Amino acid sequence: MAGKPLLILMASLTAAAAAASAATAEATLPPNFVVVFTDDQGYGDLGSQGHPSIRTPRLDAMAAEGMRFTDFYVAASVCTPSRAALLTGRLPIRSGMAGLLTHRVLYADSSGGLPGGEITMATALKEAGYATALIGKWHLGNPPEFSPLRHGFDYYFGIPYSNDMELDRDQNPPPRPAFHLDADYEWWDVPLMRNHTIIERPANQHTLTKRYTEEAIGFIRENREKPFLLHLWHTFPHVPLFASEEFHGQSPRGRYGDTIEEIDWSTGKILDTLRDLGLAENTVVVFTSDNGPWLTRDVAGGSAGLLRDGKGSTFEGGVRVPAIAWWPGRIEAGGVSREMANAMDLFTTFLKLAGVDIPQDRVIDGVDMRPILLENGAGLRNVEYYFRSDRLYAIRKGPFKAHYATWAGYSPEEAEHHDPPLLFHLGHDPSERFNIADEHPDVIAAINKVRDVFLDELIPGEPQLTDGHFRGRWEVPEGIEISLEHP
Ligand code: MG
Repeated sequence: MAGKPLLILMASLTAAAAAASAATAEATLPPNFVVVFTDDQGYGDLGSQGHPSIRTPRLDAMAAEGMRFTDFYVAASVCTPSRAALLTGRLPIRSGMAGLLTHRVLYADSSGGLPGGEITMATALKEAGYATALIGKWHLGNPPEFSPLRHGFDYYFGIPYSNDMELDRDQNPPPRPAFHLDADYEWWDVPLMRNHTIIERPANQHTLTKRYTEEAIGFIRENREKPFLLHLWHTFPHVPLFASEEFHGQSPRGRYGDTIEEIDWSTGKILDTLRDLGLAENTVVVFTSDNGPWLTRDVAGGSAGLLRDGKGSTFEGGVRVPAIAWWPGRIEAGGVSREMANAMDLFTTFLKLAGVDIPQDRVIDGVDMRPILLENGAGLRNVEYYFRSDRLYAIRKGPFKAHYATWAGYSPEEAEHHDPPLLFHLGHDPSERFNIADEHPDVIAAINKVRDVFLDELIPGEPQLTDGHFRGRWEVPEGIEISLEHP
């Protein structure tokens, strides 16, 4: 009989010791970082952003427990350069990843990629002892020398480029929009990779969100004892749209909503895992999208809400994206920041939070977001540059935005140049409808000055996005062993 209280005492002592050790770990370990990055999700495509028919209860709760951003940008309005900027903290023009007007993203058969000389946040944090993983769509280079494994990631599971590339040329798919809504995943010969190995081709796209989620949770569990950096770069809602059986056909928003609702479920699972493991209070989670909605995909594309235009454009809808930051106990619950911020700022902010030096041998465009995240204070970003490929189209300074050029379609010839620039006040006119250039020559003069200094000092990197074709095929390179191992 005396054994039982003793056992209880021992159990409670063990629990106390575990709690104490967890507390010590939290006090001494630098924070973990998780970036959930969706593909082509528009500013309006979340419940917490006011969408009437996409249901995102977990992301809405994440916003209520954390901070929502109204003016969060990516550095480009298409996938490849936006991703390069997030990882390096640099404008894509500096790393050679801005693209040309003829080649704006990498294709399956492109030979370029994120140059090895770039320092990614994964490289920097790995050197500081972080475990690192990239799960999802990469799109920063297919040849093995550009793999995530060469850019600081210990582990990679995902597809190397967009899910609409490598359309099987023998197929004769029906015209849009059914083409992207009720497609057969076998029409696209997209490989699914684990590290350097192709494990499935074509990837069963119905299963991707669920498998990415399982991989992400596995990575967090394995690395619970040390600091980690996890990038979860979802394949959707980029077209073609696929969801798993549980989500397929469920959303009032149709197939587009199905994919976001599954991503909502996935994000909830990640937050639950962090909580279950006692890591929530030492983990910064950021949710955002790589660029605006693909409006030319009709009902298979998303919505930028009240912002003008979408993917490919330098109007706000192309580059201002939904963003939520979550860090229980550190980031104010229910906070809303109206400060300008950019995905590039995560590079600088994560390194600062980890106590890692910012590289001094190159221009870093990311600024420290800690005043915003930790104090809901004034941000350090005052200017936003809007590039279309390697051309500077617009500049925002404070609430004013000047457009020197605007696009009128996908073809470069359709660009329209403006002298004087179009001028909008993004506070009074977030939809960029009313040109007020005539009333504010002083503002235009000030922004012109910013442009002249910036362009004068800019040293563009060697262009990397110079070849490849939308329907090109990725051939397994010689000398690299790529096996087809079925899971
Ligand atoms: Mg994208």
